[in-house]
Amino acid sequence: MKFLKNNPNLKISHLRKNISIMLSIDTADFNGKKVLIRVDFNVPLNDSFEVADDTRIRAAIPTIKKVIEGGGIAILMSHLGRPKNGPEEKFSLKHIIPAIENLLGKELSFASDCIGEAAKQKVDSAKNGDVVLLENLRFYKEEEKGDKHFASELASLGNMYINDAFGTAHRAHASTAVIADFFPVNKMFGYVMKAEIESIDKVLHEPQRPLLAIMGGAKVSSKISIIENVLSKVDHLILGGGMTFTFVKAKGGNIGSSLVEEDKLDLALELLAKAKEMGVQVHLPVDAVIADKFGNDASTKVCPTGEIPEGWMGLDIGPETIKIFREVVLNSKTILWNGPMGVFEMSSFEKGTHEIGNAIAEATADGAFTLVGGGDSVAAVNQFGLADKVSYVSTGGGAMLEYMEGIELPGVKAIRS
Ligand code: AMP
Repeated sequence: MKFLKNNPNLKISHLRKNISIMLSIDTADFNGKKVLIRVDFNVPLNDSFEVADDTRIRAAIPTIKKVIEGGGIAILMSHLGRPKNGPEEKFSLKHIIPAIENLLGKELSFASDCIGEAAKQKVDSAKNGDVVLLENLRFYKEEEKGDKHFASELASLGNMYINDAFGTAHRAHASTAVIADFFPVNKMFGYVMKAEIESIDKVLHEPQRPLLAIMGGAKVSSKISIIENVLSKVDHLILGGGMTFTFVKAKGGNIGSSLVEEDKLDLALELLAKAKEMGVQVHLPVDAVIADKFGNDASTKVCPTGEIPEGWMGLDIGPETIKIFREVVLNSKTILWNGPMGVFEMSSFEKGTHEIGNAIAEATADGAFTLVGGGDSVAAVNQFGLADKVSYVSTGGGAMLEYMEGIELPGVKAIRS
């Protein structure tokens, strides 16, 4: 214990089951170190191979700067796209060099291979404070296979390891998980990983109550495990979007030609019964904006959710539902939002999602902790300009959903164990 107190690079992290000792990026000493950083630079490129959206690169900058400003050499590892058979020009990470240099405000050196002589040479000739970008990890099939030898070759390039790629933390790949074995002590989360994990933990493990989960989107089937996992934790559960109609039909309502998963009707009833048993208040939409076809120019009207006429489909929550949901949102202290309330991509059916987004922003301004995650809800907060008005927007996609389902992510486990 005395050793720990005297060593500023170590902090005690109280994990749920056991206490483990983890390095923190805030206090680690990078001076003179070669620091391998697994980043998520899997960014979209346009036809001229320019970065079309630099969000992921932007997110990794604080971690890279921390290392180089601390006197270390940052060795960046990432994948880009899905190359099938070894190196492919269009998936080369060299395309993104200008975007990284622009955001970092300094030049970097590029290794035309992620392992072997080319990589070693670039790393060896780097000086403290330099940045080296390694070529696409997925030019080797060993990366996705989690090959130990490949991981050892990557590991041999550095003497510290940072995982800052939350987007791939649910994969046990060589650079995201296996490599950590070679750094039993000198491994840590980067700032992106840290923020993602802390926000989800804040919701799932130490929420201020009432805790509300808002689940929407198209299908119950893709949300079952998350709903099941959050049931044991939340006080309120709002269900919206297309998946609502499976619940409404299961309860005996008429849903016209709304989206439904016939094989999930029993499951919907089971989930509702389970929620009741656990004392969770479930809020289903009471009215819907219905349309005579799936299109922005459809004729629309509002009707109770369980009384949708034949030939009509529910594509958004109705005004009465918005009022009720708003109230629940404003009374909550912690909110998790995953999935839109309607077909928000079409202006005729965006109101429900927009209004719930606004209510979440209001709750945030009143002091609630609000986490938005999962592809389409992130798209929705961006569309409505609300990204800065919620506490945290997770960029993790699949990784976030698996973490919320209660699955221990290989990339997280590798650092914690
Ligand atoms: P998910 O990927 O399951 O979160 O679903 C998101 C998609 O659900 C979005 O593209 C929405 O347009 C769609 N969606 C939301 N509400 C409805 C609805 N009532 N009917 C059909 N699709 C919907």
